[in-house]
Amino acid sequence: MALIVQKYGGTSVGTVERIQAVAQRIQATVAAGHQAVVVVSAMGKTTDGLVKLAGEITSQPSRREMDMLLSTGEQVSIALLSMALQALGQDAISLTGAQVGIITEAEHSRARILNIKTDRLERHLSEGKVIVVAGFQGISETVDLEITTLGRGGSDTSAVALAAALHADLCEIYTDVPGILTTDPRLVPEAQLMAEITSDEMLELASLGAKVLHPRAVEIARNYGVTLVVRSSWTDEPGTRVISPQPHGRPLEGLELAHPVDAVEFDPDQTKVAFLRIPDRPGIAAHLFGELATQNLNVDLIIQSIHEGNTNDIAFTLVKANLAQAEMVAAALAPALRTNPSDTSQAEVMVDGHTAKISIAGAGMIGRPGVAAKMFSALATAGINIQLISTSEVKVSCTLDAAAGDRAIALLCEAFGVTSSPVMPTPLAPDGADRPTPVVRGAALDSQQAQVGLRQVPDRPGMAAKIFERLASHGVSVDMIIQSQRCHRVKGEPSRDIAFTVALADASTAENLMQAMAQELGFGEVVVNRAIAKVSVVGMGMMHYPGVAARMFQALSDEHINLQMIATSEIKISCVVAESEGIRALQAVHQAFDLAATRSSHTDSSGQPPEHRVGR
Ligand code: ASP
Ligand code: MG
Repeated sequence: MALIVQKYGGTSVGTVERIQAVAQRIQATVAAGHQAVVVVSAMGKTTDGLVKLAGEITSQPSRREMDMLLSTGEQVSIALLSMALQALGQDAISLTGAQVGIITEAEHSRARILNIKTDRLERHLSEGKVIVVAGFQGISETVDLEITTLGRGGSDTSAVALAAALHADLCEIYTDVPGILTTDPRLVPEAQLMAEITSDEMLELASLGAKVLHPRAVEIARNYGVTLVVRSSWTDEPGTRVISPQPHGRPLEGLELAHPVDAVEFDPDQTKVAFLRIPDRPGIAAHLFGELATQNLNVDLIIQSIHEGNTNDIAFTLVKANLAQAEMVAAALAPALRTNPSDTSQAEVMVDGHTAKISIAGAGMIGRPGVAAKMFSALATAGINIQLISTSEVKVSCTLDAAAGDRAIALLCEAFGVTSSPVMPTPLAPDGADRPTPVVRGAALDSQQAQVGLRQVPDRPGMAAKIFERLASHGVSVDMIIQSQRCHRVKGEPSRDIAFTVALADASTAENLMQAMAQELGFGEVVVNRAIAKVSVVGMGMMHYPGVAARMFQALSDEHINLQMIATSEIKISCVVAESEGIRALQAVHQAFDLAATRSSHTDSSGQPPEHRVGR
């Protein structure tokens, strides 16, 4: 007998007939000898309808009353589903979040779960009942008892949190799609269902997967080792398994971390190589990283910021052991990028062997302004200068002078209340199965962003902190942040360019704020580009195999697509391209990594994952 938590989304319970079909599925689970706790969303588009109603009364409803309103949607569906089960002769009881004891912080409309009381659930389970729990809601006990909601799409999070609290054997998310696909099928018809994906990869694919699976749910699954499956309510297909590492006995108190960062990672062993003033045209990055791949050099971070005139700077890091070799390759490449090979005012290479990388990681930073700013300001208060910045959905990485490393770790652990830093994930499937994970698992496109570039920001501690604090204090959430290697002396002082992307809706606010700051902080032009798209690839395997970036850049170069910015994390590479080229870029990249062909088998006749055969 297993304890299974099942979650059914709005479309799965959208009509009476569907509610009855869901009841039958649950009954079959019980008939197979299992116990079931079922979480449901509001029927169909109920929540949207309620939001619209509120909007007809006021353009600024209070967050408390919105929670009061929206939480009713789920209360309807739990009662109906429970009745449907009872009508089938299956003993069942519906419970709101408050009745269960899903305790959250007192943050209306975006509360995080702090704890789940399990006594009542356990009692009803032992009575042989199916428990139907309202998703997306909880209760805060801080002062008064207050109904809270977890934020749109939060029922997934309720389900996984319940599975963690009950130590359930399995959490199944039933939805109207067959599972998680390698990319958005509306843009790339060849997109394939993934048989499995790791939770870390899923988090980095948040912009692709968020509609299917709430990122906070993925984070809980990862932290508590919940076995999670996303599958269709209409079929018996197995869907996609989201694999998490073995749990390490994390306490259930503070279940969803109230703080947004859950790890500080440090890599003392990095070398930074920068190509300065290289031509800004398609194919250059592909060429550079192609050469590095041919030499079997595994590149870690890659950073390219906004161009300047018709040149660009690209910096990357790799392990120190590769320093000498990288230096040779880089020095050999540079002259070929000059119109006059001996003119070092063109394409120049800089190598720095005393660099360390420090990162903060956590799904809680998605959509929460101010996390990156807090990191930068913690470093600034200690006078630590940030060299490069590269971010992904769930990670902010900075390179620093290696000598400042220990101080930086202590500061960040303190600032974010993190006590331990996890070991890096392994390339093997975390469930212990002895097979390599694919180099690239999926690809995503985000066209709803604008790019903001700040030229010639003084290169001294505290600048990035001030800039991103200002944005955060105005509620502007920043997605990618890139600080490049480009250096200029302005009135004798070195400067660097900083670029970032924000949601399109925030572009004007960001532009105005930055324009106002330019004077104050003494930086140059503010360049805003709304016509951009971000294309990304994600895969755990890329940590361990050279050539992934080169292959992505080559695919884009073959389509004559220019790369406007590049930022990476260990398991993700993102490129900003012109918006008009976004879909073509996604298609090219999806194809380049054979994603349409990796459906269920990761190996071909040579026994090798297909991705591993191609050198970079
Ligand atoms: N009903 C809520 C929403 O539409 C929660 C959910 O369905 O996950 O956002
Ligand atoms: Mg959903």
